[in-house]
Amino acid sequence: MRIGIDDTDSPAGMCTTYLGAVLARRLAAAGFRVTETFLVRLNPNVIYKTRGNAAICIGCEGDPDTAFSLACGLVDELADLACDATNPGVVVTGHPLPAWFYRKAVQDFCGIDEAIDLLEESGARYRGYKNCRGLIGAAAAAACDFDDGTSELLAYRKPGLWGTPRRIDRQSLFIAEEETWPHTWDSVDRENDVVVCVPHTPDPVLFGIRGESPAWVTTARGYVRSEEPSIEQVFLTNQGTDAHLIPGRIGELREGRSYLVGGTVMSVPVTGHGGHVSFGIGDRGETVRCMAYEPTRGFRDIVRLLLPGDEVTAAGSYKGGSINLEKIQVRIVAPVLRIRPPCCGVCGKRMTSAGTGKGYKCRKCGSRSGEPERIVIERDLSCGWYEVPPSARRHLAKPLIRGPPSVVRRPERSYNPSDIL
Ligand code: ATP
Repeated sequence: MRIGIDDTDSPAGMCTTYLGAVLARRLAAAGFRVTETFLVRLNPNVIYKTRGNAAICIGCEGDPDTAFSLACGLVDELADLACDATNPGVVVTGHPLPAWFYRKAVQDFCGIDEAIDLLEESGARYRGYKNCRGLIGAAAAAACDFDDGTSELLAYRKPGLWGTPRRIDRQSLFIAEEETWPHTWDSVDRENDVVVCVPHTPDPVLFGIRGESPAWVTTARGYVRSEEPSIEQVFLTNQGTDAHLIPGRIGELREGRSYLVGGTVMSVPVTGHGGHVSFGIGDRGETVRCMAYEPTRGFRDIVRLLLPGDEVTAAGSYKGGSINLEKIQVRIVAPVLRIRPPCCGVCGKRMTSAGTGKGYKCRKCGSRSGEPERIVIERDLSCGWYEVPPSARRHLAKPLIRGPPSVVRRPERSYNPSDIL
């Protein structure tokens, strides 16, 4: 049996993952065998999201009616239902929901009616609160089928402390990362000396450690010194897997999807207002703007080294006519030639132009030459993948220490990303 839940929080508080962690405990206390806890990130460009567009799914064994009433009871108890934008959804299904719906919710947009139709067809128990939007995320979570997965250990604060400053030994987070990297990542941003894994919002999360397995995130967690958490939960997640990226082609990109797009750099990168860097890439006569925003910090220094003619693959979301770069692959560094008059073969003096199309002439001895001197300028840029720092990384973006973006698995049945290209 799978239980999917989404859309329980608001900017003022709560977190669907916390609700999931509490539900896992209530299910266990009621005699259920909890087999899996998933933290499922969905399309990061959905405008309705409160923060990171997360939903949760719990796999368990037991009576579905009891599970449904425990889940709905917890939503009634914990969800911030007073907030207009909080529209929870609860789904309980005895068999997996079709995986295409999960893929669509990660890479594209889904409708509320579409989610309800799917739930009706599959015979799932479900409850949508208020405008029922949370059923999209709840159904997608219950349909989750990861091609690749990572782990996150989330530690939650005692309810009396929610909204107060978090007490965490900063140095212990850096030690946790040093001792377990590259098996865990993004707890801190060492290059920029920033703590990444502690939120600043008034929600119940104390910190979250991301890594390749439950064992590694638990090891890293052992180094962290902080106020005493109320509960801790390890989730299996699609974070850090690039599950949102689809192969795209310039000229055919659609708003709010995230792509891997190949192209040739068409313009010299320009640093604009606020420190954001932009440049154009083109393919088959079509162009698109790529953006490296100010929070991506040192990543912009790489971007500024690009020159027209370089061949790249850009990864990121297409929003407002731009690809917001999460990472970039430099495939070919274009040679840059400096052309200048040759030195005279007779007297060694540098020649000067003899006029348009007339070659070069030595002012000292009168010799002539038709060929200029061509100097290949060394570029400071090497081929390879470059990424934004941990402090600017999106939840779904795969850190390069996990490898380059993988080839997207062929989609099945009703959802084909090529339909939206
Ligand atoms: P929470 O911690 O509550 O999950 P969040 O940042 O994850 O916070 P939500 O409050 O869940 O954001 O809001 C996201 C809303 O968008 C949910 O109602 C969810 O069902 C819906 N949603 C998620 N993915 C999609 C999608 N691909 N298309 C349309 N709606 C979506």
